[in-house]
Amino acid sequence: MISENEKILSQSVQFLKSVGPKRAEAFKKIGLGTIRDLLFYFPFKHLDRTNILTASKAYGHMVNGFEGELTVIGKVVDKDKIRAGRKEWMKVQMRDSSGFFECIWFQGINYFYSVFNEGDYFAVSGKPSLTKFGNLQFAHPDFDRISEDESNSFLNTGKIIPFYRLPKDLKSGNIGDFSLRKIISYAVEGYADKLEETLPPELIKEHNLSGLVESVKNFHFPESKEKLNAAVFRFKFEELFYLELLVALRKHNYKSKLQGNSFTIKTSLVPDFLRILPFELTRSQLSVLSEIRKDMESNSPMNRLLQGDVGSGKTIVALIAMLIASDNGFQAVLMAPTEILADQHAKNISELLKKLSLVHKSRQIKLSLLLGGQKKSQKEKSLEENEMSEADIIVGTHALFEERVKFKNLGLVIVDEQHRFGVAQRARLQSKGKTPDVIVMSATPIPRTLSMTAYGDLDVSVIDELPKNRRPVKTILRGESKLPDIYKFIIDKSKVGYQSFIVYPLVEESEKLELKAAETYFNELKDGYLKDLNIGLLHGRMTWQEKEEKMLLFLAKKFDVLIATTVIEVGIDIPDANIILINDAHRFGLSQLHQLRGRVGRGGRQAFCILVTRDEPAASNSKNNLDLEYLSPSKLERYKSAIRLQTMVKHSDGFKIAETDLKLRGPGNIFGTEQSGFPELKHASIVEDANIITEAKKAAFKLIDADPHLKEESSRVVRKNLIEHYSDNLRYAKIA
Ligand code: ADP
Ligand code: MG
Repeated sequence: MISENEKILSQSVQFLKSVGPKRAEAFKKIGLGTIRDLLFYFPFKHLDRTNILTASKAYGHMVNGFEGELTVIGKVVDKDKIRAGRKEWMKVQMRDSSGFFECIWFQGINYFYSVFNEGDYFAVSGKPSLTKFGNLQFAHPDFDRISEDESNSFLNTGKIIPFYRLPKDLKSGNIGDFSLRKIISYAVEGYADKLEETLPPELIKEHNLSGLVESVKNFHFPESKEKLNAAVFRFKFEELFYLELLVALRKHNYKSKLQGNSFTIKTSLVPDFLRILPFELTRSQLSVLSEIRKDMESNSPMNRLLQGDVGSGKTIVALIAMLIASDNGFQAVLMAPTEILADQHAKNISELLKKLSLVHKSRQIKLSLLLGGQKKSQKEKSLEENEMSEADIIVGTHALFEERVKFKNLGLVIVDEQHRFGVAQRARLQSKGKTPDVIVMSATPIPRTLSMTAYGDLDVSVIDELPKNRRPVKTILRGESKLPDIYKFIIDKSKVGYQSFIVYPLVEESEKLELKAAETYFNELKDGYLKDLNIGLLHGRMTWQEKEEKMLLFLAKKFDVLIATTVIEVGIDIPDANIILINDAHRFGLSQLHQLRGRVGRGGRQAFCILVTRDEPAASNSKNNLDLEYLSPSKLERYKSAIRLQTMVKHSDGFKIAETDLKLRGPGNIFGTEQSGFPELKHASIVEDANIITEAKKAAFKLIDADPHLKEESSRVVRKNLIEHYSDNLRYAKIA
């Protein structure tokens, strides 16, 4: 049943004053067909009155030594292009009722000349200076054109002016900044009152939110700064609330619809395994294990995210969980993202199982490895299938997804490096068993805001300490000119048994060039600085078997130095690899750098990570906050890479690093439907709104706990909204 109000709101924008067929067509082109659409076409910024001064006040501030941003509103009285020798610039004279000021440009002169026309009004913002003639001057300021009316009402009544994006399609439909503002104001004045509230009244009360109608009005034409903030908060909260509802529904569906297995410790298998481990588990590993045990014991299926920094010992924990499944007569699968990693896991596990079989004689645990099958013969395949149906533990790659792969009784699925597999893929593997338990392990720590949202349907376990024998890796930042000293350091240390990685970033996409680059680095060092050492080379054009062979030779100490042109993501432990030199470190992402550093320092000795970057002091004298808004793109890039490198030097904690990484990268499309099944965020920021996320999450989970099928009258609004606006996402909630 569509209500009268909704009918009115879904009328074409053409019903609005001053919108004829041509303008309506233009609106439609950018997806604004109805009045309702227009009401939700929000401004991207407002002219903020708090920093606005008259020209004479601004002048006074400057005379008193003020050094900051401010805004002045004025009318263009004159403009000039000036040429002196080869230099050219353009100057605009402006005035308000109190005095004059000027704006100046050295670049894009023709463009700015065409924008500023006599008689037009502009709000000009920036950091002004005083010229030698004592004029108040803005160089390359930000500016917004406003109408004379707006300028008056703004100055006299303090109204806050909204600014809307004006895509080409609108411009060519004869809609400009002022007319768009006018049209939207007609929509808001005439129709905003017809909007029906989309949040339950109890929620609005409890969280002190502003109502939908009031929020829409104040987002467009705020009565005050406070009301604007309240409106923004409401839309952020609402968006996150619905996101968390989807999360809560996913979790609820998974837990309640599916009947899982109950695994307990039945024999001495697991205790025996703990006895043969060459080390004690850390307190943190033990507490995570007890969480996992509880989940496995319970009838509802486990869906758990296991987080821990590189080297924190996640694999052992996973293996123990797999043995619990074996103990109950079920198969367990460990899925790795690459063949070499899968192979590595299989080797390590098989070592441990061999030891176990010496102590625990009543039962052999069988291990099977499954890698990509394109080149295999039919016979090999069926052998493999036989083997798999008998195995207790199966390690493999995404080949495990293949149609032909069938398990006898799959009870536990463990996914290593979860971020590479999407939700749908995970679901596919799960479907191969009868609601198996699932653990996903993440190689890089996940910031709190993400584990509350993108991963919010999973229970989270964190290994938050490293094994005792670890010392933090000493991280050093050096310019390229220091390379000879660094090589000398590597040579000296090799005399006491240290091995080193030397990493180059992947610059060339083309295979041939990449190979050539790799060989060039290799030959230069082999015949140059490092001619007295044994050097190996690992590059991206090798097959995984070749790569593995190189790693094993390195492990066997056949090389002192291993040159790698690809990220050595290999999980293999090289206990004596205690130096990693990363060239052009500014080209790597933060989590990549952290992963790379995690390759060293696994023995007991002091390890070093040497980050080498362009010779420039930029890295050391950058300020240390993350307010990135006001930098130009190229400066921004440098600034970001400086922060990345400094973060590496200062911090060894992977969570701290992950948070900084998220801030620098921005949320990107973490919520792209492809991967996560979550809606894109329009208002809230996954980086900045941690508190709102926490609040919205609590509210959403509380609602689903109390009324999981949203049947109550009080959930009516929520149910209606989910169906109207989130139906695609709901489908995802079911499969995940
Ligand atoms: P990650 O969490 O990065 O997957 P791994 O599971 O690969 O870490 O463990 C890294 C190394 O630490 C392995 O060699 C593993 O055998 C070892 N290890 C795991 N737990 C402990 C422990 N409690 N004490 C000492 N060494 C451990
Ligand atoms: Mg690992």
